[in-house]
Amino acid sequence: MNPVVLITGASRGIGAATALLAAQNGWAVAVNYATQASKAQGVVDHIVAHGGQAKAFQADVSVESDIQRLFAEVEREFAHIGPLRGLVNNAGIVDQVQRVDEYSFERIERMMLMNVISPLVCCKEALLRMSTRHGGTGGSIVNLSSVASRLGGAGQYVDYAASKGAIDSLTIGLAKEVAGEGVRVNCVRPGMIDTEIHASGGLPNRVREVGPQMPLGRAGSAQEVAQAIVWFLNEDSSYCTGSILDVSGAR
Ligand code: NAP
Repeated sequence: MNPVVLITGASRGIGAATALLAAQNGWAVAVNYATQASKAQGVVDHIVAHGGQAKAFQADVSVESDIQRLFAEVEREFAHIGPLRGLVNNAGIVDQVQRVDEYSFERIERMMLMNVISPLVCCKEALLRMSTRHGGTGGSIVNLSSVASRLGGAGQYVDYAASKGAIDSLTIGLAKEVAGEGVRVNCVRPGMIDTEIHASGGLPNRVREVGPQMPLGRAGSAQEVAQAIVWFLNEDSSYCTGSILDVSGAR
């Protein structure tokens, strides 16, 4: 039997790096993706080729019925391997650079749906399976925030920063709420990390242009963030819950 972890948005970037490292640490990995099936399958193939266990699951985690289907499928497909004991709320979005006085309602709604409501619903579905209150055997939830939650994102994306502020609060509150139910809840707050998220916000050269201005003189890698996420997943961090760890090179 191996513990099972569900990682949302694990087809690329930080989620993919976390999937590979979690598998090396003995987790059976449910690799969620939205649209990029071949990339998700590439992550799964890499894990399986190295002797691990993984499967790809398509689901748009901004849709409640997709989230419910995702958790049910993961439970069913991994039933012979072990119980769901890990959730990494990784999938997240940015948007184009805009001031708040330029935002459309639809932009704000999409940001909050994807970056706040979705992780909350995923926490709910995970707790229904992990919490001893619901007959589970415990587990570990890791949420992806951002240093934007304390920097504020002024002139760039205040909505994104605010959505990540909500993730910090969710982590602190939920950790206390389920501390007696075998579930730990922690949060990793990356700084500027070299992934495709910047291009999706219309800034494909952001890491190259701004990375050298970071205190360490470079952006971080997805693998460096994955190390922190997997440490929180593992029992090595057994006395950490409600913790928020910056992986931001002093930014
Ligand atoms: P990324 O490279 O843009 O990857 C995003 C991942 O999320 C992809 O696997 C994508 O799947 C998935 N995804 C997007 N929308 C989805 C949806 N509706 N349903 C399911 N999956 C969805 O992102 P990243 O840079 O690795 O960021 C991961 C997390 O770290 C995010 O929460 C982000 O806010 C946070 N973060 C990143 C940075 C940074 O500088 N990179 C800094 C601070 C915080 P497809 O491939 O199928 O589209």
